[in-house]
Amino acid sequence: MRILLTNDDGIHAEGLRALYRRFSGEHEVLVVAPDRERSAVGHSITLHKPLRCDRVTLEAGVCGYAVNGTPADCVKLAVLELMAPPPDLVLSGINPGANIGFNVNYSGTVCAAREAGYYGIPAVAVSMPGDGAPYADDAAAFLEQVVRHMETHPLPRGIVLNINIPHLPFHDIEGVDITRLEMHPFEERFERRMDPRNRAYYWQGCERRNTFSGPDTDAAALAQNRISITPIRCDLTDQESLARLKAWRCQPDGGHGE
Ligand code: MN
Repeated sequence: MRILLTNDDGIHAEGLRALYRRFSGEHEVLVVAPDRERSAVGHSITLHKPLRCDRVTLEAGVCGYAVNGTPADCVKLAVLELMAPPPDLVLSGINPGANIGFNVNYSGTVCAAREAGYYGIPAVAVSMPGDGAPYADDAAAFLEQVVRHMETHPLPRGIVLNINIPHLPFHDIEGVDITRLEMHPFEERFERRMDPRNRAYYWQGCERRNTFSGPDTDAAALAQNRISITPIRCDLTDQESLARLKAWRCQPDGGHGE
């Protein structure tokens, strides 16, 4: 297979190297990743400045492209320009830090996979709570198994996988759950502080909740030291609401002509 590797932590991040080590033996792998950390940029793209794409050496004999843009830019550039034809698979990660619940919308890691899904390319985002590094090779080995399943049982177009792997050696992981997003996995808050000029500033943060909306969520799986696999849809349309909204029968003139 021809595989595009990317992330939101920058081209020199350890998680990306772990994916490279695991997949470059059997596959044709190209790395196109941000030239610096771009975590939490979500699905943003760069429109108001040119994108530069520098060939960099990752380690002996391994080159990749460092892009001065976002993870979604990297996938777009790889798919439309750098790789012809487009890759068979896009892998994004391994992100240090979980990407669960509504936060997948903020995650550059997940949105890189969604960008691939938009082009109909199978894609997986992989994250690990904590700093991720010590067990990145175990996570990459698990991912290889998922990729084999995707080859034999392809997902529908526009569906990508979001995987979170506990920060543990694989023999301490309790199992694998297929999950839905826990929509409120964090207690969010702002810390209000004062700057030296006595003006307030705000720093946002959050703490993981330990209550869940059900046992079948990504957050609940991680809390039980289980791997979470969530299928994510790129098309944001809510099909179930279409009929209800059509019944509104809105008119261009605001309904005043009735
Ligand atoms: Mn990140």
